[in-house]
Amino acid sequence: MEYTIICRFGEIGTKGRKAQNSMKRRLKEQIEKLFSGSKVEIVGGRLVVYTDWSNVKKISYLPGIVSFSPAIKIGHNLNEIEKTAVQLARDKQATQEIKSFAVRVKRLYLEYPIKSPDIERVVGGTIKDATNLNVDLKHPDLFIGIEILRNGTYLYTDKFTGVGGLPVGEQGSVVSLLSGGIDSPVAAFLMLKRGARIAFVHFATDKGEEEKARKLYEHFLLFDHKTKFILVPHNEYLDDLRKILKKCDKERYICVFCKRRMLNVAVRIAKKIKAEGVVTGDSLGQVASQTLRNIQIIQKNIDFPIYRPLIGLDKLEIEKIAIYIGTYDISISANSQCQFVPKYPIIKGNEEEVAKLSAVIDKEIET
Ligand code: ATP
Ligand code: MG
Repeated sequence: MEYTIICRFGEIGTKGRKAQNSMKRRLKEQIEKLFSGSKVEIVGGRLVVYTDWSNVKKISYLPGIVSFSPAIKIGHNLNEIEKTAVQLARDKQATQEIKSFAVRVKRLYLEYPIKSPDIERVVGGTIKDATNLNVDLKHPDLFIGIEILRNGTYLYTDKFTGVGGLPVGEQGSVVSLLSGGIDSPVAAFLMLKRGARIAFVHFATDKGEEEKARKLYEHFLLFDHKTKFILVPHNEYLDDLRKILKKCDKERYICVFCKRRMLNVAVRIAKKIKAEGVVTGDSLGQVASQTLRNIQIIQKNIDFPIYRPLIGLDKLEIEKIAIYIGTYDISISANSQCQFVPKYPIIKGNEEEVAKLSAVIDKEIET
């Protein structure tokens, strides 16, 4: 008998054989890092980690895995399966008042000579006789899962949900603009979940926000230990920008040019580190810089893919994901209003005006 964690792939299973193998291998390497020293094996449609169950929750952060279970591994012998299943039921009975159970078998190793319903019947009968528990297939107090793989039988009572999606790195990498707010970490997560490795860039204007951005980045190391964090000073630029705009009597445009600089610098970083896109947490209409007009103006002349995974989501929907991925509490832990935001930031910037101002700004300050 061995202690293991069995991990199930989701979408990976729908890919062609070559892509599947590459993704499985990638996940195997990531889990080997996560559980350093533990053996990790790909067995058909499952990934098996040979480890005790103390760190089982680490798997819940790993994109590419839809669900996982701490499982006991034994051989293929039906007698042994019955005995182990009875033991699991008795262990549960010893700690909890339970009345019913259900057994569900998955025979992934098709050469195994007994069919799943037959195994369910035999094992179910043995548990019933040994424990006096009733069978309840709909709402059992105890669920015993049995998966028969090529190299053994795995029994479990818990099934945890994973992140799903694709293994990180499978889709190359992106630069993700990270503020200290709620939205940008969610945007990064949605890209990470689809296989993109994240390099965060934070534009520092405020110590508190910078601290939050750093904490958010550290949280992302749980999803992918190769996540990067790059800090770009932004105060001096904004000071100069404010002065120039004031001279032109166009201070209402400061958010547009602030974001334009962020995108320009992010694109430059992306090209340097060979990332293939820039991600922001923009959501349509949420604030002044996120109107259709302003998004268009800010992005003008940028010849590089900009991704906005939250564009169609409401704040409440975004918050829900932030809570689910564990970034919400960090994001709301303190909140300092940007000191450069004017009382009435421009909502529908004028394209010609922006072109004129851009020429002045780009001549006077270096991006
Ligand atoms: P968030 O909740 O992500 O802070 P927000 O609703 O406050 O977003 P904005 O301040 O307009 O909206 O920012 C829009 C996007 O620009 C952010 O989602 C983020 O991707 C990027 N961004 C804003 N501020 C910074 C910053 N200081 N450093 C890096 N990126 C930033
Ligand atoms: Mg913000």
